[in-house]
Amino acid sequence: MSEPLYDTFGRKHDYLRVSLTERCNLRCRYCMPEEGIELSPRHHICSRAELLHLIDRFISLGVRKVRLTGGEPLVRKDAGEIIDEMAQRPVSLAMTTNAVLVDRYINRMKNAGLTNLNISLDSLDPDRFMMITRRTHFEKVMANIHLLLKEDFNLKINCVVMRGMNEDEIPGFVEWTRHLPISVRFIEFMPFDGNRWQTEKMVSYAEIMEHIRRDFTFERLDDAPNDTTKHYRVPGYTGNFGVISSMTEHFCGSCNRIRLMANGAIKNCLFSDSETDLLTPLRQGEDVEPIIRESIRNKKASHAGMENLADQPNRSMITIGG
Ligand code: SAM
Ligand code: SF4
Repeated sequence: MSEPLYDTFGRKHDYLRVSLTERCNLRCRYCMPEEGIELSPRHHICSRAELLHLIDRFISLGVRKVRLTGGEPLVRKDAGEIIDEMAQRPVSLAMTTNAVLVDRYINRMKNAGLTNLNISLDSLDPDRFMMITRRTHFEKVMANIHLLLKEDFNLKINCVVMRGMNEDEIPGFVEWTRHLPISVRFIEFMPFDGNRWQTEKMVSYAEIMEHIRRDFTFERLDDAPNDTTKHYRVPGYTGNFGVISSMTEHFCGSCNRIRLMANGAIKNCLFSDSETDLLTPLRQGEDVEPIIRESIRNKKASHAGMENLADQPNRSMITIGG
């Protein structure tokens, strides 16, 4: 095997997040504008063979964890085949999904050992869900979450907290962990093109904890290495909760992530405004390893080297894959 992917700060990059598609069946306000986004032309999107080839190249460079994401990964027509193929690779496999289509894929996921899922859910109220996602799939998502729990999947629920939108639901989400073996992760809202970023909309880690402190006593849990979440549990509750404080207390120091987008470009940081095309060189028969190494070498210490994230242009989250 080749030398692993180290950046100039000594961070080893062994976690690849792969966006399978730019498309989505929801229109979450914090992620995607109502009219959708301008999609890459069809021939600029990796075929399944190209995607798997690039993933295999990363695996040969030491990647040991792959997360399938999107857009909504399960709206890609060959998502099932990609899941089957990924089951053959020597990696820990996970997915981030909005869970709308999970019932169609649950057996395939189980067979592939894809049992670690992060599910986006920002409200426990059907009307609120509709307001945030601009779609009516609440009942479906809830039914699928319960189906997955019945089938012993390991679920993390991602809840993006936005001021004036859902911060009043924080205690309700914590209460949800009383009887369910889930981990609810409150995420600080981040700036991206198309989500009409306003600094005031961000509810900080400190404020989220303040909301919880009013109703609960809780204990801090240990976090795994490279974990982006600070974990807590209400004593006696089955599940736990945590906060992903990307904005107010970033975790760039232990970043081990590389992002491969559906158009075959990589981003060395979620906040980077530049991306590196691997698809064109791949189609021209070039070895992409030196290009990957160069991109990792150019990675900045934190937040892509930006002082003020809100002023920076960036793609919308939907194409990067979170
Ligand atoms: N469609 C899938 C889903 O929603 O789970 C996967 C893709 S989505 C872009 C990945 C994650 O990014 C989701 O958990 C979503 O909540 C999060 N996300 C999207 N836009 C965000 C923003 N502006 N700030 C914080 N998190 C965001
Ligand atoms: Fe779609 Fe996920 Fe973005 Fe919501 S957060 S619009 S479900 S990609």
